[in-house]
Amino acid sequence: MKHAIASRWQNYIDGHWVDGERQLLVSNPATTQPVASIALAGIDEAERALDAATRCADGGALSRPRPAQRVQWLLRIAAQIRALTEEGAWVLCQENGKTLRDARDEFVEAARYFEYYAGMADKIEGSSVPLGNGYVDFTTHEPMGVSVQIVPWNFPVSICARSLAPALAAGNAVVVKSPELSPLGLCVLFRAIERAGLPRGAANLLCGLGSEVGAHLVSSPKAKQIVFTGSVATGRSILAAAAHWATPSVMELGGKSAAVVFPDADREQVLASVRSGIFFNAGQVCSAMSRLLVHRDVHDEVLAAVADLARGLVSGPGEDNPDHTPLISAAQLERVQAICNAAIAEGAQAVVGGDREGDRTGHFMQPTVFAGVRADMKIAREEVFGPVLVVMPFETEDEAVEIANGTDFGLVAGVFTRDLDRALRLTRRLRAGQVFVNEWYAGGIETPFGGVGLSGFGREKGQEALYSYVRTKNVAIRVQRD
Ligand code: NAD
Repeated sequence: MKHAIASRWQNYIDGHWVDGERQLLVSNPATTQPVASIALAGIDEAERALDAATRCADGGALSRPRPAQRVQWLLRIAAQIRALTEEGAWVLCQENGKTLRDARDEFVEAARYFEYYAGMADKIEGSSVPLGNGYVDFTTHEPMGVSVQIVPWNFPVSICARSLAPALAAGNAVVVKSPELSPLGLCVLFRAIERAGLPRGAANLLCGLGSEVGAHLVSSPKAKQIVFTGSVATGRSILAAAAHWATPSVMELGGKSAAVVFPDADREQVLASVRSGIFFNAGQVCSAMSRLLVHRDVHDEVLAAVADLARGLVSGPGEDNPDHTPLISAAQLERVQAICNAAIAEGAQAVVGGDREGDRTGHFMQPTVFAGVRADMKIAREEVFGPVLVVMPFETEDEAVEIANGTDFGLVAGVFTRDLDRALRLTRRLRAGQVFVNEWYAGGIETPFGGVGLSGFGREKGQEALYSYVRTKNVAIRVQRD
């Protein structure tokens, strides 16, 4: 359902909505028309948010109540997100270009993160360590303090909830920096937080430029942890800044993930996985299936089926829930087009697509399938972040593993086969933080997620992620001798 969108939006600092001197215009990628404007935070607002979070965390309002109180806060946030889902989904769909259905799913997933980590907020238990007579030793898990979280534009609401929920569950205060290209959905998420009645300063939202507010936040000694999701280039500059204060960091970066298809694979599972793996969200997914490695015996047949699938996708504006939606910006469209042009110049063959959708005003890229790609080509090694699939043949299991592991990334991977022994063997050999068998994106918010190599480090999602948001302290006590 259509919702009216306010024309001006603000930052949320220390429990208040705050205006700014400058405004940032947010536009709809499907039409290039303006959606709304948002107050742009500057360094002053960033400092106010860091100070408010520090006051709340260090012996402040977050550290006084029992953990059971945090359970209630998180459950209330989840309920408020659910109540705002329809409105939030409309805003997100308009500013981001994604389908209304996917935008709705993002809010529902965000609510799920808060429910999931609410269940853990009062179970962050330590342990006792046996040191023998004369000693008592135990460990506790303390909150970090202020968690600075830098969010990308592709799934702003669910990615923000992914780190905000465990951070709050563990007793941290948070400063979130929203992405410039898609900041409005996060304002709706923070309205849910406002309504849930957390202490002032527990969660703050800044819409600022990455090069200005983002760079300031990650360089500040007031940031006791950095959680970054975004590109490798930005991740590198954040790590360089974090080095100065030795600020612990979680890095969720890019990917060039491969699915390996054996002749015995269920074709329907493969095609359904290609559909979601590379064409969901127009391929703007860090864990997209951007490479399909197909056994030579079935390569041509699978390539033809995948090409048909891509050809059949109908594009349109997100509110119509089409098969295919625009890229986020003109710059991204140009980038993706340039990568495709370079691949063609290197000798790759665009079996389907390879160009922008010329008859549309929005930032639409054609669903694209490349064949004739060599492993050393740029298109086989670099992240495209668009609806562009590379299909490559292999002959032996060893060759498949070598090609799959042959990039600097290692976020996710997939294996399609009915042979369980082979599947398990491959899951051990594929260099990735998560391996899907017979269904791309088979995991959920409950399953640990994160990369190896240039895909980053640290884990989000699942129980494991909670421990990214605490510091372990050991207390070793010498007691009276027997
Ligand atoms: P990006 O790196 O351009 O921007 C991400 C965020 O960083 C934005 O909020 C931006 O303002 C901010 N930023 C930019 N420069 C900064 C600086 N110097 N200091 C601090 N913050 C700064 O990435 P993007 O284009 O928004 O997102 C696309 C990338 O994100 C892709 O590479 C994709 O693979 C990756 N990604 C990874 C995951 C994951 O979980 N691994 C999820 C989604 C996206």
